[in-house]
Amino acid sequence: MHFFDYKGSKLYAEGVSVEKIAEATGTPVFIYSAKTLARHFKAFDGAFKGAKHLICYSVKANSNLSVLKTFSTLGGGFDIVSAGELHRVVKAGGDTSKVVFSGVGKREDEIAFALKQNILIFNVESPEELRAIDKVAGRLRKKAGIAIRVNPDVDPKTHPYISTGLKKNKFGIETKEALKEYIYAKDNLKNLKLLGVDCHIGSQITQISPFIDAIKKVKGLIGKLRKEGIGVEYLNMGGGLGINYDDETPPHPSEYGARIVEETKDLGLTLIFEPGRNLVGNAGILVTEVVYTKEGSAKNFVITDAGMNDLPRPSLYDSFHNVIAVNKFKGRRKFKADIVGPICETGDFIAKDRSITKVKSGELLAVMSAGAYCFSMSSNYNSRTRAAEVMVKGRDFAVVRKRESFDDLTAKESMPRKLFAGKKR
Ligand SMILES: *Cc1c(COP(=O)(O)O)cnc(C)c1O
Repeated sequence: MHFFDYKGSKLYAEGVSVEKIAEATGTPVFIYSAKTLARHFKAFDGAFKGAKHLICYSVKANSNLSVLKTFSTLGGGFDIVSAGELHRVVKAGGDTSKVVFSGVGKREDEIAFALKQNILIFNVESPEELRAIDKVAGRLRKKAGIAIRVNPDVDPKTHPYISTGLKKNKFGIETKEALKEYIYAKDNLKNLKLLGVDCHIGSQITQISPFIDAIKKVKGLIGKLRKEGIGVEYLNMGGGLGINYDDETPPHPSEYGARIVEETKDLGLTLIFEPGRNLVGNAGILVTEVVYTKEGSAKNFVITDAGMNDLPRPSLYDSFHNVIAVNKFKGRRKFKADIVGPICETGDFIAKDRSITKVKSGELLAVMSAGAYCFSMSSNYNSRTRAAEVMVKGRDFAVVRKRESFDDLTAKESMPRKLFAGKKR
């Protein structure tokens, strides 16, 4: 559920006309709905009421400070995958004692920064990382809370690029080896607190069964840990609950919550979740202006001022985004077209062979479900300035990230004299 709806023929974000926002900011512009963000957070959080739990929003899905602040105000923690993301959490006023740190390649400086910020748990993805965290913690005279990310070898039945819990994926440690590592850590790595077990199996998962399969495997490990006198407090189920882009039918968080609580209640652990897409995906749209249309004998094209640098998901994962007109014009016929960006790559498309109402240059389109893994994956490719981001709340809206300027594009670059000194030709 989201709050982007037509009032008459005009698309609104909550109580504000999308056209009005585009007039004020220019295009392309991302628009986020605060009410939708809050609704999604509360739905997810509410799905676990009665069970001890912590919702750690996965920052990489959308790392805008105002998005982070929205969740932190609602009591959320954060799942980070870099020191840069931790910097954002701190800047947004997030509670670092509710931060978990994932990722296969945490550097020692990142580990040190996280320890200084007193985060809750490092989700550890390899034996070497486990030893590195112990070493850095020792140097800082700190105790690092850790959970080993186990790779439960279950198939999440999603796009191969976003499935992470199979043996062939780079993530986590196989269950058997994980047990050995916990025992080794208990006996040898004195700067660690063995707080939990972690498993994140992938993204855009639209069934509950892969999560349940993962729990079953992890439960076996927790039983063995207890026999070894290692009593963990947290079970981190990761993120991954899918959303509706097209005709998917992902379970509602309440259904997912009920099943997970049922499967885990005998463990007596605090559950951690790391939802990203589920909280923000449908809370954002990308508004773009049609620059040209081109009708050919083989294909029609709608060329927009947003490209793969703004919205990388279609070219990266061949993913589907619904595209709708910001103003519904009466009496327009439909046609089939590729909606493409201005970038010099054939892979630069927003939608392929899409049947849409005919649009004209200067008109606005809204790309739906653009709140997750869009702006956060955007780039400056083709020296395009990154889009503005706006947040709407009721009848109010504000720019939460300015559109980049040409000066921003070149701000970090230089032409050092010593490289160009010498005889002029
Ligand atoms: C990306 C990621 C998430 C969030 O995944 P969603 O599908 O957006 O919920 C959670 N945990 C980890 C470790 C991740 O890498």
